[in-house]
Amino acid sequence: MDNDCIFCKIINGEFGTEFVYENEHLVVFKDIHPKSPVHLLVVPKLHVASLNELDDRELLAELMLGVKEVTKKIGLKSYRTQINTGKEAGQEVFHLHIHVLGK
Ligand code: 5GP
Ligand code: ZN
Repeated sequence: MDNDCIFCKIINGEFGTEFVYENEHLVVFKDIHPKSPVHLLVVPKLHVASLNELDDRELLAELMLGVKEVTKKIGLKSYRTQINTGKEAGQEVFHLHIHVLGK
């Protein structure tokens, strides 16, 4: 938990954000400014600033499997995934997350 991190606060339930999916490793919630009719964020419970700081292979696998599990749960068969890494690439929140975009 990083006290200055908005996603850590969301994971901690501080804003009452609804989780579309949750398991031991991650939560999934809707992006507040959706860029597609379905725009979800798959977020590890552990605070990791970006993909560049992620060394845990198991957690990396869990995140991708989380994408599969949540899309299966909501019946979304076709979607795009995106990970912005670093400010220049457009990363705004420095708590690793995978965007899931679909229609
Ligand atoms: P990034 O640009 O870091 O890859 O993406 C961050 C995403 O988080 C943006 O698409 C933004 O709309 C979303 N976001 C930022 N703050 C909040 C928030 O407080 N709640 C939710 N649900 N999404 C947020
Ligand atoms: Zn965090």
